Amino acid sequence: MSTNVRREPSSRHRDNSSLDAIRLPVAGLVPMTTLDYPGHLACVVFLQGCPLRCGYCHNPQMLSSRQGTLQEWAEIRGFLESRKGLLDAVVFSGGEPTMHADLAAAMREAKTLGFKVGLHTAGVYPKRLETLLPWLDWVGLDVKGHANNFERVAGRPGLWKNHAQSLALLLDSGIALECRTTIHWRDFDLETVKRLALNLIECGVEHYALQIARQDQCLNPKYQQPVMNRPTRQALERLIVRLEPQFSSLVLRDA
Ligand code: SF4
Repeated sequence: MSTNVRREPSSRHRDNSSLDAIRLPVAGLVPMTTLDYPGHLACVVFLQGCPLRCGYCHNPQMLSSRQGTLQEWAEIRGFLESRKGLLDAVVFSGGEPTMHADLAAAMREAKTLGFKVGLHTAGVYPKRLETLLPWLDWVGLDVKGHANNFERVAGRPGLWKNHAQSLALLLDSGIALECRTTIHWRDFDLETVKRLALNLIECGVEHYALQIARQDQCLNPKYQQPVMNRPTRQALERLIVRLEPQFSSLVLRDA
């Protein structure tokens, strides 16, 4: 969920009285992308705040949470109204967008305006995620690691079970799902990558992406240093070739 964003200012102001009073802390908007919702032309709304502290995170400015204002979502709503028929989908990203109680109402509005709704999440708030299921068309679920590895990579204890519940919820829901793991070689070796992928296959995950972490602007400065004895790209690609037949899709991308 960590990515570069740019804030698009909007001059649209409107009376909010007839609409839901939605407060969301908007951290940025990418007005058009083909990368964030597979096969769709989408915009991405970034919401401020994340409870995790991944060492490779390159959006540290997005981590602290804050209360949103009515005006922030009103500006996004105005933007969406201007893009009806031009964009297929709205993706909510972060940070961790499921932190925010008004997310379901915002998704409902996006659906009402005719957009498909996508979500980028690490799945650490399964109860909130459950309330979003009626509005979701596609989810990119960040899988930081398996069990203790999830908590080590995410930099926060006690959240793995929440994530596992979210994965189960999404698999049961039938909503289109891509699991994705960001790999920084401080966190992984090839064997750990392989075991994580096999776990996901066992759970029934069909679409999986491995994303190589960027080494610039990492939250933890140690993650900006070269990693000794890191596996070569070729070795990772060989592993992917071996795992590929067990997924419907398995891709390697640069984060
Ligand atoms: S989940 Fe990790 S990478 Fe994503 S915003 Fe939070 S700390 Fe950064």
